[in-house]
Amino acid sequence: MSISIQFLGAVGTVTGSQYLVTCGEQRVLVDCGMFQGSPEEVSRNRLPFSYDPTSVSALLVTHAHLDHCGRIPAVVKAGFSGPIHATGGTLDLAEIVLRDSAKLQEEAEARWLRHHPDAAPHAGDEAGSDEGDTPQQIRDAKPEAHTTTRTAIYRDEDVDRTVALFSPVAYETALQVVPGVTAIFHDAGHILGSAIIELRLADAGATTTIVFSGDLGRRGTPILRDPAPLAHADFLLVESTYGNREHAPMERSVDELAETVNEVAGDRGVLLIPSFAIGRTQELVWILDELVREGRIRAVGVSNFSARAMRGASRVLERHGLPLASNQVRYSLLDRGIEANGVLDAARELGVTIIAYSPLAQGLLSGKFHEDPERLKRLEGPRRRLSLFRPRGLRRSAPVVAELRSIADAHGVTPAQVALRWLVQAHPHVVVIPGASKVAQARQNAAALDLELTEEEVRTLDEVSRPFR
Ligand SMILES: [Zn+2]
Repeated sequence: MSISIQFLGAVGTVTGSQYLVTCGEQRVLVDCGMFQGSPEEVSRNRLPFSYDPTSVSALLVTHAHLDHCGRIPAVVKAGFSGPIHATGGTLDLAEIVLRDSAKLQEEAEARWLRHHPDAAPHAGDEAGSDEGDTPQQIRDAKPEAHTTTRTAIYRDEDVDRTVALFSPVAYETALQVVPGVTAIFHDAGHILGSAIIELRLADAGATTTIVFSGDLGRRGTPILRDPAPLAHADFLLVESTYGNREHAPMERSVDELAETVNEVAGDRGVLLIPSFAIGRTQELVWILDELVREGRIRAVGVSNFSARAMRGASRVLERHGLPLASNQVRYSLLDRGIEANGVLDAARELGVTIIAYSPLAQGLLSGKFHEDPERLKRLEGPRRRLSLFRPRGLRRSAPVVAELRSIADAHGVTPAQVALRWLVQAHPHVVVIPGASKVAQARQNAAALDLELTEEEVRTLDEVSRPFR
């Protein structure tokens, strides 16, 4: 019998994992991941599948990261109707990941249609064709065209059909996938439910074993088990994103983390840790908690605590020799509630740093909505429901924004920079965390710290924003 493996993703790139294994008449797919990263890579998600999805008997999934499972609803939409085998953990997580992915695509599509009202939804949508663009057209398109998400590749109802095909398997249990093909899922120690898939193919009286590593975890990490050792494979396919570097032992990584936290805390700085939402974040939180318990880092912060809750938390922590370091609350010139409800006083008294989120009132203090009220109509997301973002709210906040603008003009800076600076200059134990979606924005936010407002300017802003206390 002839056995072949086609590499359909994660080749010359690190996302879009997908292998088609053919054994005689049988075809089995291993993983069906989404391409992520550069526009060129993302555009590959729109290419039609290079095989007939109806001809595939079963799909095996190593784990629930999007680059390994993200195109499954698309292959279902294109006609695949066999069982989708993975561990229970992977299937539980995959449903969350795929529904989230469908939702993001539907939102992006709605956004695109709003900006291109003349573009009717593509006719081929229901039939599951990829919008009618040929692969060549997609490859030849400009980068902007690549990133423009048009029709969602799949929707929530496609995820419904996908979930109906889910078929959980236990670790270390032989599963007959199709006649002549057996799969065994071994723990990969990468994320919840992750697996190394061992495929045994009956091949003219003998057995050929192909092992798909999936993403592999590290040994000795918290929460997850170590990857299971495998003794035999005729062919071994290894994901090697980090194959070119050697990991330092876990203890050394933890030491480095503790050192960094302490160094940044010593500088009263902010430590930003980029981290995958599934897997890495849970591990980090676990390690940070351990470090606090071991007394190697020494601060605990809270979010949205009232003055009473802050005092309570501070008392409890003190018994364990820990200070309450921070309370993260919403605070801006248009939301000065913490000055009136005692949170700011409690912070001063307990030596707690206030971390002010939404310090620009979700962009309102930049002045751009007052300059062009038409922008309100184009708003998306939760801001549309906020009273501040209605015409009346705009009128109420207009005096504050006008004052910001006049001070900004005097200093040759932006109203947003003045608004940020007021928070930290008027209250020395406040740290602001403005959002930034562009590098220039982040630079501008940082530059606000160099600004120095006169006492009179601080006072004027205090007076004009009194109604928001
Ligand atoms: Zn992964």
